Amino acid sequence: MSEFDLIYRYFVKDANQRKDVVLGIGDDCALLTMPPQSLLAVSTDTLVSGVHFFPDVDPYSLGHKALAVNISDLAAMGADPAWVSLAITLPEVDQAWLADFAKGFLSLAQYFNVQLIGGDTTKGPLSITVTVHGHIPVGQALTRTQGKAGDWVYVTGTPGEAAFGLKLLQGEADANVADSLRQQCISRLLQPTPRVAIGTALRSLATACIDVSDGLAQDLGHILQGSQCGADIYLDKLPLNPELVEATSFEQACQLALAGGDDYELLFTVAEENKSQLEKLVSTSATPVTCIGRLTSAKNSLTLLRDGEVCELNLAGWDHFANEK
Ligand SMILES: [Mg+2]
Repeated sequence: MSEFDLIYRYFVKDANQRKDVVLGIGDDCALLTMPPQSLLAVSTDTLVSGVHFFPDVDPYSLGHKALAVNISDLAAMGADPAWVSLAITLPEVDQAWLADFAKGFLSLAQYFNVQLIGGDTTKGPLSITVTVHGHIPVGQALTRTQGKAGDWVYVTGTPGEAAFGLKLLQGEADANVADSLRQQCISRLLQPTPRVAIGTALRSLATACIDVSDGLAQDLGHILQGSQCGADIYLDKLPLNPELVEATSFEQACQLALAGGDDYELLFTVAEENKSQLEKLVSTSATPVTCIGRLTSAKNSLTLLRDGEVCELNLAGWDHFANEK
């Protein structure tokens, strides 16, 4: 066994076990059982050191985030997460680093009942590629293409916090912000929470859905393009963290939410006839869900409104993190 083969010991030892895995790590392929009448949902993301994360980021958070951003893509389709494979490239084998990375990765896998079913390890510059697999009953997947003019636009959580967390880590924000806000924003950046329960609950309710990775405005743009619609977004309805508004300004908090990125919240649309059902559903949800606007027939046009008036916000220059990807 090479040093790099030993890496898998960290991941296999504590790995979650699912009944639908006929054969897991150890053979040439994993063998998996799909539920009947389901489609397989698959998504891959690569995180590269110095591009997607700071080289000195704590390995527990990195393990968490590498899996979280992938599970978030499953949530955005309304899929149930099931299996994951992990390809990791490391400059050297650092036992303590690997043990913490595995802990962060596997504890999130455990939380969502996801089993690690395979992977690869290579020597080279630090990068992590995760492929997640989930399933969705046939005909129930959420896509970006079925939004219609008149549908209401919703978002989960409090977008903008992760982007402010990045500014704090980069030393671009006021160093005197309250500790509670600092911790909240940095933790949203480093350890995002994929919105799986809401994603699956939206299957029969949402017309379109996406996860917010590149900023609400840009990701909404993908729905507008896919659904051939426009949108009015009510800035006064954005679920901004009040502490963030106080530490910056209303305009800056809007810019962070709309153009900042890395929130991994769900952004989705619901037809008027399902609005009350949706609001009933989310009234019992632990994650806040907020109506922030409405789709319009003005193709690919995003209008920002504040108290009913059109409001120009400069969103350029705020998405530098997205540009680095
Ligand atoms: Mg996505």
